[in-house]
Amino acid sequence: MKIGVIGTGYVGLVTGTCLAELGHEVVCVDALPQKIELLNNGGCPIYEPGLIELIRTQRQAGRLTFSTDVAAMAPDRDAIFIAVGTPPGPDGEADLGFLRAAIADLAPHLAGFTAVVTKSTVPVGTGDRIEAQLAELRPDADVAVVSNPEFLREGSAIGDFLKPDRIVVGTDDGRARQVMQQVYAPLTDAGAPLLMTDRRTSELIKYAANAFLAVKISYINEIADLCEELGADAARVAEGMGLDARIGARFLEPGPGFGGSCFPKDTDALLGTGRAAAVPLRVVTAAAEANRERKRLLAARVAAVAGDLKGQTVAVLGLTFKAGTDDMREAASLELIPDLQRRGATVRAFDPKGMEAARDLLPGVVFCRDAVEAARGASAVVVLTEWPVFRTLDLSRLASVVETPRLIDMRNLFDPDDATRAGFDYVSIGRPAAAAREPARTNPLRATRSAGAAA
Ligand code: NAD
Repeated sequence: MKIGVIGTGYVGLVTGTCLAELGHEVVCVDALPQKIELLNNGGCPIYEPGLIELIRTQRQAGRLTFSTDVAAMAPDRDAIFIAVGTPPGPDGEADLGFLRAAIADLAPHLAGFTAVVTKSTVPVGTGDRIEAQLAELRPDADVAVVSNPEFLREGSAIGDFLKPDRIVVGTDDGRARQVMQQVYAPLTDAGAPLLMTDRRTSELIKYAANAFLAVKISYINEIADLCEELGADAARVAEGMGLDARIGARFLEPGPGFGGSCFPKDTDALLGTGRAAAVPLRVVTAAAEANRERKRLLAARVAAVAGDLKGQTVAVLGLTFKAGTDDMREAASLELIPDLQRRGATVRAFDPKGMEAARDLLPGVVFCRDAVEAARGASAVVVLTEWPVFRTLDLSRLASVVETPRLIDMRNLFDPDDATRAGFDYVSIGRPAAAAREPARTNPLRATRSAGAAA
């Protein structure tokens, strides 16, 4: 099939490349000429494992091209996927400005029946608004507006796209259904479930799923806090919960709080939808608030272990919001590091893929070439992102370059016994320290949490 994609970000580029891998002829368009130039020169504007190789293969096969020219791409496409950003507006609700602009660019050039497919995450009713916009701009156009939310995760995006848990398509238009069935036939033939719904239901599925995952994360984070107070082990609690098939083991890893381009913005957008519909979403409200508070108190967690941070050096290992991506959007590092600096600490940092994006966002940080270099002279080392390369760090070597051996592991990457043996005073999330596996009546984080902003 002939497919167009508008927006070559994390979602659009993966979508276009994977649709080419499925055998379709795909043209990806972006408004930024420098992105398209880079792609046409064999580069890739984002880091996503395996993506640059797949782009290369599909370009060589002649199935994937990149352009800034919507007018040339649009006519006679069976489906055009819109994958532009829908960032939070000032009140947290989704800003649909990029989407409206993309539709305005596209409308004059539509020819023949086209399924206009929204891949971007958009509030319920957006499909209706796109339909109205198209009807106003091009009353003669033969189009059907389809919702097809994307569930890929950065860091494993290609696998997620090609082996999805489910594909959700929302439309009442029979021709558009057929187009979408054909687009995804190679995946559904291989067993991927395709859920066909009306458009509003499809739009809501995406938000309901993301908000549920956000709730799961905030829940296990609060259980981990409780474990710290009571001397229980959050990892084992999660294991014991996760063996229950009704709960499931995934998304039960406590950490520094959720970030990234989806969970924070999608929970806020869903809350906006709830407000507009006068339906209280108390559970999601609590999850979002708990997360905001958790991230706000990250530096206080460090201070609770390392004491007054004035004049101290803190090493931060990991800057991106999660491993496997260069994405810095809503990363915990953007909360933690400025707060450490405000408290008078010098921050040295290393991230395997995020440093280029981080440089502009984190002024004053000393960016280092590896973890050991970052830890040099530090009086606390904070592990913030679960990069596999950190898991295999030689802790004794790390301990030998720091000034004071304190390791604050916000991803529970290390065995407490190993860290202690290497000489570290080791604090992780929701797990008792190796040396003192007893109810933590003197847990230094207790004061932090209950004092809140005071710390
Ligand atoms: P992104 O910011 O990485 O990419 C958006 C791209 O769209 C940019 O390259 C931008 O230049 C381009 N663009 C903006 N306006 C344009 C226009 N008028 N014409 C052509 N190109 C235009 O965003 P993203 O992370 O890929 O997210 C896109 C959408 O997908 C969002 O709604 C997001 O919520 C959703 N989503 C993201 C993820 C994820 O993991 N990133 C997962 C699922 C869904």
